[in-house]
Amino acid sequence: MTAPAPRPGIMDIKPYIGGESQIEGVTRIIKLSSNEGALGPSPKAMAAYQAVASEMHRYPDGSAQALREAIAARYDLDAARIVCGAGSDELLGILCRAYAGPGDEVLYSQHGFLMYAIAAKACGATPVTAPETDLTADVDNLLKAVTPKTRIVFLANPNNPTGTYISSEEVRRLRAGLPPSVLLVIDAAYAEFVGRNDYSAGAELVEAGDNTVMCRTFSKMYALGGLRLGWAYCPEGIAGVLNRVRNPFNVGSPALAAGLAAFHDTAYAELCKAHNDHWLPWMLERVAALGLAVTPSVCNFVLIRFPKEAGRDAAAADKFLRSRGIIGRAMGGYGLPEALRITIGRDDENAAVVEGLAEFVKSWK
Ligand SMILES: *Cc1c(COP(=O)(O)O)cnc(C)c1O
Repeated sequence: MTAPAPRPGIMDIKPYIGGESQIEGVTRIIKLSSNEGALGPSPKAMAAYQAVASEMHRYPDGSAQALREAIAARYDLDAARIVCGAGSDELLGILCRAYAGPGDEVLYSQHGFLMYAIAAKACGATPVTAPETDLTADVDNLLKAVTPKTRIVFLANPNNPTGTYISSEEVRRLRAGLPPSVLLVIDAAYAEFVGRNDYSAGAELVEAGDNTVMCRTFSKMYALGGLRLGWAYCPEGIAGVLNRVRNPFNVGSPALAAGLAAFHDTAYAELCKAHNDHWLPWMLERVAALGLAVTPSVCNFVLIRFPKEAGRDAAAADKFLRSRGIIGRAMGGYGLPEALRITIGRDDENAAVVEGLAEFVKSWK
């Protein structure tokens, strides 16, 4: 007798390992491993979450109407073409299942977000990567990697874990160079943090055709990662596909209520943005001043590269920081074993990171 076998591809998936949150023997933990909002959720989101507790026996609004309408009004989008998901991860997975399968290729850049490989393999498709330049997506390399089997191109813009972005002009050039039958998914999970005038999250490319989707999340700027809430802005046909394939009640009522309250609490979002605008350049400067290589992140995290010598490398840095209670994220899974990714935290946490790194570098002498 043989046990039931999963479909080809599934056992090739390296299970996603979330950021760690505990160190044995350490009580004061500084968790900077998952790019969660430094200041926590909006107090109004917490109140909205609590307010629905007595209604938890009711199914949620499966169409997420109030949230879709609020998002559409803010960004001047068509609410009928917004689809909400249990985190944007769910939407990335559904897009793969709906548009790719065995024999198809799913393309993304070299150090692109890990979910793309997982989603591709889960539907039996083949993940394909294109080399980056200066740890940044390279449009020419992506276009060169397109084959007749390519079905989907995922572009995290800006990208996690590198923190880098490409301009709206470059994204437009990517779209223009792809065959019209290839779905371009622009994953703009960190869009709310980006303050560059040549950046766009990609809604205008969704509007311009029938083959581009933009994904967004409430997990980063809105600090609701624990609730699982994201959304996609789609051409009409693709919204119709997502609404057929997703579970009818894929987003729970606490997530819908808290998400809507967080979205309306613009003062709190501005506070979070201002916090990042202050600490991101501070962190980039201080880390560079220690002689460590750091990418020019536009997100709420930094990617730090260490020398490839025993005692000075990323593994040693990780161990050193952990001895001080600081948990960053090792990057071997992203093909960047020389790097650590560290999220921007609260004031005292950021100071502890720089102090820890300074001590680590001093220990080399
Ligand atoms: C965090 C992240 C997401 C999605 O997170 P969800 O919590 O599933 O919404 C998607 N893309 C990138 C690049 C991310 O870093």
